[in-house]
Amino acid sequence: MNGLSLEGIIHAFGEQPVIAGMSLDVARGELACLLGPSGCGKTTLLRLAAGLEHLQRGRIMIDGEVVANAADGHHVPPERRRVGLMFQDYALFPHLTLAENVRFGLKGASFRGFRVEEALARVGLAPFARAYPHTLSGGQQQRAALLRVLAPGPRVLLLDEPFSDLDVNRRIQVREATLDLLKEAGAATLMVTHDSEEAMFMADRILVMNAGRMVQSGSPFDIYFHPADAFVAELFGPVNRLPGLVRDRVVDTPIGRFDAPGLTDASRVEILIRLEGLAVMADDGTDNRPSFPARVASSRLLGRSSHLSLRISDGNAGYIALQCRAPGVLLPNPGDVVQICVDRSQVFVFPA
Ligand code: ATP
Repeated sequence: MNGLSLEGIIHAFGEQPVIAGMSLDVARGELACLLGPSGCGKTTLLRLAAGLEHLQRGRIMIDGEVVANAADGHHVPPERRRVGLMFQDYALFPHLTLAENVRFGLKGASFRGFRVEEALARVGLAPFARAYPHTLSGGQQQRAALLRVLAPGPRVLLLDEPFSDLDVNRRIQVREATLDLLKEAGAATLMVTHDSEEAMFMADRILVMNAGRMVQSGSPFDIYFHPADAFVAELFGPVNRLPGLVRDRVVDTPIGRFDAPGLTDASRVEILIRLEGLAVMADDGTDNRPSFPARVASSRLLGRSSHLSLRISDGNAGYIALQCRAPGVLLPNPGDVVQICVDRSQVFVFPA
């Protein structure tokens, strides 16, 4: 296969297992994001792919060539793998200008007609070719660092949280520019992030990791709408959780009946509902979707959306607390009763 393949990787630091058996492929031209919480082993996997760590178990191939094999100790050093590596601190040389930094990557590498000035101009950095990194913004440094990594024409690109040093607004612009450059470069790209929205924006495929294992691999759409378990569902923010019991492949709750495919009768389940999966209906009678009354406990404006704490009857004397995220300004008074409806695409039923 052209691109990067990791097969059966197991890795530990001393007694601490960090990668517990992972295999993955990233095709040439594809951008895959490793998404997972802090400490789950993402950077370790990237360092193994780069050759910065020696393999303990498994095999790594680039464009069909074995670059590391734990079975026979084969280990191609990082500088001979034609792998581009970029970490979150960019690591530009402070004593070199931007143009010199970008040119640096070309020494001894297979030079493919890369024109530094032209490349700098394409990402809006031409006026800064002779500037030193400390005089530039984070976004400008990020683009220069990316150019330096791309200049030698790597077969594989490994990016570790490449936007984490940028403020929120700058990050959105830089992501877009980065994506264009990466697509044009056509390498197999493996990017690490713990930001689910960043993974959704950047990735052709998201590889979700938890505790050294791959939990799910799929398109951004699949990962969001068909999470494999509660862990994946919660990567996109907090959820409401309701307990339930399966009867005839469905589960009844105070806010409706949901399918429980593949779950055995009488088994206990947990129903997860994203906060944005509950909507408060207009009270002008124009909306005839099935709805349920809920009493408002509190409402807060968050800016682009409003957060509501609601209470619905549990069918007995008690209540169930639900959280709802409504777009725009929606601030009913505590004690008001509103009608809520459920977006079923945001509801997931998992074994308890
Ligand atoms: P983050 O998002 O915080 O960077 P991560 O998912 O990239 O986390 P890793 O950096 O791969 O996680 O670390 C995984 C685990 O391995 C952590 O518990 C970390 O402390 C440990 N670890 C990483 N490198 C070493 C090392 N060189 N020696 C000992 N332990 C290490």
